[in-house]
Amino acid sequence: MNPTFPLTRTDALNRLNAFASKAGVAYRNQRNYDFGSQRHESVSRLSAALRRRIITEAEVCRVILDTHNYKDAEQFIAEICWRTYWKGWLEHHPTLWTRYQSELSSCQMMHQQQADFREAYKTAISGKTGIDCFDHWTQELLETGYLHNWARMQWASIWIFTLGLPWQMGADFTYRHFRDADPASNTLSWRWVAGLHTAGKHYLADPEKIRTLTQGRFTPTGLNTAATAISEATKPTQSPPRQPMPFNASLPSALLITPEDLSLENEGSLAEMEIGLILAPSTLFPTLADRRAGEDALQRAAAHWRCEAGWVDDLAGVQPAMKKHQLDQCLTGFLPVGDTRDAVMCWASKLTAEGITLGEVQRQWDLVLWPYCQKGFFHLKSRIPQLLAQMGIE
Ligand SMILES: Cc1cc2nc3c(=O)[nH]c(=O)nc-3n(C[C@H](O)[C@H](O)[C@H](O)COP(=O)(O)OP(=O)(O)OC[C@H]3O[C@@H](n4cnc5c(N)ncnc54)[C@H](O)[C@@H]3O)c2cc1C
Repeated sequence: MNPTFPLTRTDALNRLNAFASKAGVAYRNQRNYDFGSQRHESVSRLSAALRRRIITEAEVCRVILDTHNYKDAEQFIAEICWRTYWKGWLEHHPTLWTRYQSELSSCQMMHQQQADFREAYKTAISGKTGIDCFDHWTQELLETGYLHNWARMQWASIWIFTLGLPWQMGADFTYRHFRDADPASNTLSWRWVAGLHTAGKHYLADPEKIRTLTQGRFTPTGLNTAATAISEATKPTQSPPRQPMPFNASLPSALLITPEDLSLENEGSLAEMEIGLILAPSTLFPTLADRRAGEDALQRAAAHWRCEAGWVDDLAGVQPAMKKHQLDQCLTGFLPVGDTRDAVMCWASKLTAEGITLGEVQRQWDLVLWPYCQKGFFHLKSRIPQLLAQMGIE
């Protein structure tokens, strides 16, 4: 595995420490330049680790603020908070996830039925459109599982507005290939580019900017620079975010490891609890990257709680193992909207009949920041220093 996109805690901490000095003014000035595959030194490449909480947002901000004053680090910390914003926003609009999935199914049906659509999709995902930057970034994504943020914006914009392909099919493709694939950041960033997040405000790729920010490596022609935003018939409905499932802190418990939080041994309340068994269901870790990160998390958790830890094939394997260890309570990190939550909730609905309860531990970071993720990003951004101070991160 390539440590450039760290998937173990040791690699992630090393990467964070190596990057910290660059996270101030240098990041602010250089973060939008795409210097090319294997040359993304101006950005942290921590997203695969942050997405799985191999390291947490709080830890990253602490290290960065030990190295820089807030003013210099503001841009980098704001980017960390974009991740939080998308997570929190999806928690407040959970039906968007199901809506996206049903729209994707309709697109996939169209893909099956229409030969010209099939052809256009195939040309795009194999990087044969003739648009130099787009084809290059497609290859980079397929080879490395990573694209620079600004390149993701251009790629998604060209997909939607120049190639005329449905954003849902693009989001599905990147979700399957990004090493940091995240239901909230991926789906909502695609909606943002399309002009659905802030209705009517879309992102159009600009050939001149592409030439400048790739230092002349690309001069794309034929981009649609006059397209209008995508619209939708119904606005997403907002609802109060789901509360974590409660648990009894005095009961010995099993720990369910999922890719939503792979450093639970560092979560204050949970770290002190009596954990008698640690399990990771393989089906929740579908990719090689997930598997590598999951293995590292299992080893750390086993060392911390000093108990048996290992893989089970799927969630159905959890109850028998718990019964064998005479444990009735299972704990896990909070499950944000996405496919992991869908799978675990489906499984959890059958647990009561077996006398087992499932509880979730929510991170302070999410508790403090998510309430400000219901409106535009500025609503959160303007409060970041105050919210960090509330958590003792200064
Ligand atoms: C169409 C599209 C799809 C995306 N899909 C994903 C995804 O599936 N998973 C994912 O983690 N990010 C996604 N992003 C956001 C962003 O591109 C990546 O987080 C970033 O490129 C990761 O590289 P880095 O770690 O070097 O970022 P840095 O620039 O070093 O930023 C530090 C951290 O801040 C967070 N961050 C930075 N920019 C953003 C952003 N715009 N939105 C959310 N978080 C951000 C990431 O956790 C990142 O690791 C997407 C962006 C777009 C435009």
